[in-house]
Amino acid sequence: MGSSTGFARPAADPGEFAGRERLRASSAEFRKDVIEVTDGVFVAVGYSASNVTLIRGEGGSIVIDTAANPVDARAIVEAFGERLARPVRAIVYTHNHPDHSGGATVFAADDAPEIIAHETLARSGPEFGRGARGGGDAFGTALPDDLFINAGTQLEYGRVTPHTREGFLPPTRVFRGEEEAVEVAGVEMRLIHTPGESAENIAVWIPAKGVLLPGDDFYKSYPNISPLRGVRLRPPDKWVASLERMIGLGAEYLVQGHMRPVLGGEAVREALSAYRDGIRSIFEQTLAGIRAGRTPDELVEEVRLPPNLARHPYLQEYYGSVAWTVRGIYADYVGWFDGNATNIFPLSPAERGARMLELVGSAGAMLERAREALEAGSFQWAAELADFVLAADAGNGEARRLKAAALTELGERQVNATARNYYLTSAHFLLGG
Ligand SMILES: [Zn+2]
Repeated sequence: MGSSTGFARPAADPGEFAGRERLRASSAEFRKDVIEVTDGVFVAVGYSASNVTLIRGEGGSIVIDTAANPVDARAIVEAFGERLARPVRAIVYTHNHPDHSGGATVFAADDAPEIIAHETLARSGPEFGRGARGGGDAFGTALPDDLFINAGTQLEYGRVTPHTREGFLPPTRVFRGEEEAVEVAGVEMRLIHTPGESAENIAVWIPAKGVLLPGDDFYKSYPNISPLRGVRLRPPDKWVASLERMIGLGAEYLVQGHMRPVLGGEAVREALSAYRDGIRSIFEQTLAGIRAGRTPDELVEEVRLPPNLARHPYLQEYYGSVAWTVRGIYADYVGWFDGNATNIFPLSPAERGARMLELVGSAGAMLERAREALEAGSFQWAAELADFVLAADAGNGEARRLKAAALTELGERQVNATARNYYLTSAHFLLGG
């Protein structure tokens, strides 16, 4: 990367980019495929930001989740081909996220299906987000193609076909409370309210087929409990309880909202158990640390998944991050203040920046230090030094170039898609992109 950003740096050891190469390899989970999970159950993976599952019943079909928009939904209808027997009798939304609920009109066509969801879906509006580009930076929507790998749980998030919501159909049938039994086209389904990735998430359990659709409460990455894009903590205790409940069902097939399904009773039990144990471990370690008076910065250094879970293929940090989970739990349980009295009323960034420049002599001297840090491979420090200059002078071109170079190096070493996308998008805009 050194040469492309104009700073001299010894050639990096290829091992430094192992995280990025693992992230690249994870894209195989999103290859386009219609998978027959078991008799009469098909899932379309890789055609949109999320999966669509088709269940064939007597005299019609059930569709679970609807993709991000009508364009993607039409591609999925085509991919299902004759497997999609009309009429579609019911559409079930596992949750309200736009990548799951934006293509319903296409599946419904003229069939007038029931649209089923938990009652909390009907009440849940769009999530409150940070800033104008907000979530898009974490999903890489503004990145040039050659810098984009994937968006963590999906190949892309609205980069080609945006999440328009124009294909959303409001629920015609909602259920309250914890669980409801529904029969559609001769298929018995148990709908179970399982808050986790979203408060309205439901699992769809089809006992006769051994098929469990957990919505977004499981995917093949460490879960995004406290997302970089800026949403509230997704309560880990509720998520653990939902997983516990799903483990108890004894499913043979796990058809989650993203990536390829998990097949086989033992594999399903093991996958859900690892998820439950991983979330519970981070949650309990963080709460114990808070009670012991540890600061969030200290806890980020200390809290780890147990070694067997840290190696688990479904707990790799492609999408969520243990460190952000720790910070999110801290903020949710005890607030923004880290307990250090210095931080009750800290200096403004502009004042701290000015004083740091005074300390080293000038902005030029600070940038020289930043350049040295960059060339020595201390990318985080380089970005922090550049920030002292930018705090006082946001338009300083050299500071912007140095920071962009540092963020690019950090991004290229990330296994986490949302961190990579955020680093590289920030660099792109610092350089005037
Ligand atoms: Zn999703």
